[in-house]
Amino acid sequence: MKCRICGNVAGNKTYDVREMMFGRRDIFRYFKCNNCGCLQIESYPANIADYYPRDYLSFTALEKQEEKSFLKRARDVYTLTGEGLIGAIYSKFRPNNDLKKFSLLRLKYDSRILDVGSGSGHLLHELHQLGYGNLTGADPFVERDHSPVEGITILKKSLSELAGTFDFIMLNHSLEHMPDQLQQMKNIVRLLDKDGVCMIRVPICSSYAWEKYGVNCIALHTTRSA
Ligand SMILES: [Zn+2]
Repeated sequence: MKCRICGNVAGNKTYDVREMMFGRRDIFRYFKCNNCGCLQIESYPANIADYYPRDYLSFTALEKQEEKSFLKRARDVYTLTGEGLIGAIYSKFRPNNDLKKFSLLRLKYDSRILDVGSGSGHLLHELHQLGYGNLTGADPFVERDHSPVEGITILKKSLSELAGTFDFIMLNHSLEHMPDQLQQMKNIVRLLDKDGVCMIRVPICSSYAWEKYGVNCIALHTTRSA
């Protein structure tokens, strides 16, 4: 077992983990690198598409997403742009912590935004409701290319198949699902504008959840975590 991140082979600890989200209970071997601490699957399954059925959580229909009320919209616009008195006041009492991570980016309404591993595009839809209109999602496990509304395009593509240039690329708990992560990073560099920004969010092994629940930790997403 050679760590695919740092190349270490010494002292890596193995774990047998079951797929439990869909109750298939198939066992996959994972190992934790003794050097860099990365937890990874020993070999990425060839039939990985079987583990992303239509009812996988990120594929739920966009229609199930509620339209935002005036106050929530004002708050979220303030969170992203720093503009609007009503939104500023409301966000003091009911902050949108999910959107706060974007606040430092000060995205422009015409920024070219790419969500890698977008599923049906829920996060893009949320940004669209706030006025953003140049939104692309990519996910190799969606059914087909489509445009749910004007301003959002969802492509059935992996990172290596994407073309174009983007001002902001985000991977929200998707990088850990992809094999060959070093190559994925090179793909991101290729797609990112020279002044662009990339945001990558991944679960980490040095967390309370892993310490307490180990191989039963839900964030492990057995099979789908590479
Ligand atoms: Zn390592």
